[in-house]
Amino acid sequence: MTPSQRAVRVLAVLLLASVLGASLAQTALVVNGVSVDGSTSSLVEGTSYAPAAAFASALGARYFTDTDTTVATLQLGGHLLEAKVATGPSKADVAGALTLDGRPLTGPAAVMQDGDLYLPVKPVAEALGGKVAYLAEQKTVVVVQPRAELTALRAQGTGGSQQLVLQLSAPVGFSRFYNQPVATLQLHFDRTDVAASLPGVQGQSFVRADASAAGDGTDVRVQLAANTDYRVYSEPDGSGFRVVVTFAPASASQKAAAHIVIDPGHGGQDPGIDFPGYGSEASLTLAFSQRLQRILEGRGFDVTLTRTGDYGVDAATRSRDGIGADLFVSIHGAVLPAGQFNAYYLSDAASVASLAMAIRKNAQSAVQGQDVSALRRKILLGLVPQLDVGKSFANGLGSQLFQNGGYRASTTEGAPLYVLGGAAGRGVMLEFSPQDLASDSLPAALAGALVNLLASGGATQ
Ligand SMILES: [Zn+2]
Repeated sequence: MTPSQRAVRVLAVLLLASVLGASLAQTALVVNGVSVDGSTSSLVEGTSYAPAAAFASALGARYFTDTDTTVATLQLGGHLLEAKVATGPSKADVAGALTLDGRPLTGPAAVMQDGDLYLPVKPVAEALGGKVAYLAEQKTVVVVQPRAELTALRAQGTGGSQQLVLQLSAPVGFSRFYNQPVATLQLHFDRTDVAASLPGVQGQSFVRADASAAGDGTDVRVQLAANTDYRVYSEPDGSGFRVVVTFAPASASQKAAAHIVIDPGHGGQDPGIDFPGYGSEASLTLAFSQRLQRILEGRGFDVTLTRTGDYGVDAATRSRDGIGADLFVSIHGAVLPAGQFNAYYLSDAASVASLAMAIRKNAQSAVQGQDVSALRRKILLGLVPQLDVGKSFANGLGSQLFQNGGYRASTTEGAPLYVLGGAAGRGVMLEFSPQDLASDSLPAALAGALVNLLASGGATQ
């Protein structure tokens, strides 16, 4: 689309907006020509706020909050916009209340009012590439984001490390869908045009990729080779963004000699929970991990521990020890009935929202604020590989430990656990009761479960 075509579209949207605005008595909000209900300027005099979920959807952004709604997150065009949530109307532009990719923006916090979350319209829309105007006569705030153009579709790299790269000229929402029967990954970009001559591409790691107009947007279909896994992530690129699809043979997770890293929780200054009659969590997890190590080594695995005595190890070091491991198992104690356990894996973007509580509750000592937000950003942007493997391991452990000892998983959840970051998706954090950690039966049962899971490449039963 030429700049003049773009201008015509913007003008058309503005005209439409003014027509819509005239029919609405209160301050209205129109985003890309679509009316967003429930916006208000009564929370804070002179500032327009919009209901967060509806506003995000109109902008094409993915939207989520943490469990107790202290941060609202919008994801668009490889960017993450985070808004801290104030519990009452806040007039002030609080420093750091809004951030884009971790950098502070000027603007007020999000506001929680009567159980509904509102975002400040102007700073949020502008941060995500929109233009904002107020039509005083119509009492309407108009937000217009540029349409995007898919300007490039190319294969990059060779052989097993080949990627498919899609270049978009502006931030727009996109969704993906895997059509299993025809082994085709379909990416749909909202409000996107295809550049005039954009030929399909053939690849070595995929069969071919083609772009075509679809409704008001653009579809890219990627036909995969047999037994290929894919991963999709996006990253900002100038005023637009890039979507990268990577490919890996489906059997890549299977290797002959597996390296297992066991992480005994706590230690040194940090004893963890004190279990009367059983001692500290730190001493229980160390003794248990050493027993588990001996059994696994006896079965031919290469096993290392993140600590081998009663001393402190910071979360960053533990996490680094997990880099390249086939499996990273962090061991903790918890106040649980004997025979029950909790399993956590590094979670994907969809479930991050519900799990901030799990971090705070279960891994306080293993988590530091800055590191977590950086990790969270990577998870949300899809930059952490093999997330689904950790989930599969955690679920597989649930069924293996039940079959092999009658242990029941009371919780199997994803969480942005920093200590699992190094192992990426190949990490799990397990919490057992002190009785089980001290028992004779759990080390053998857990070793058996891990061996079976590694043998099956993490596949669940
Ligand atoms: Zn612990």
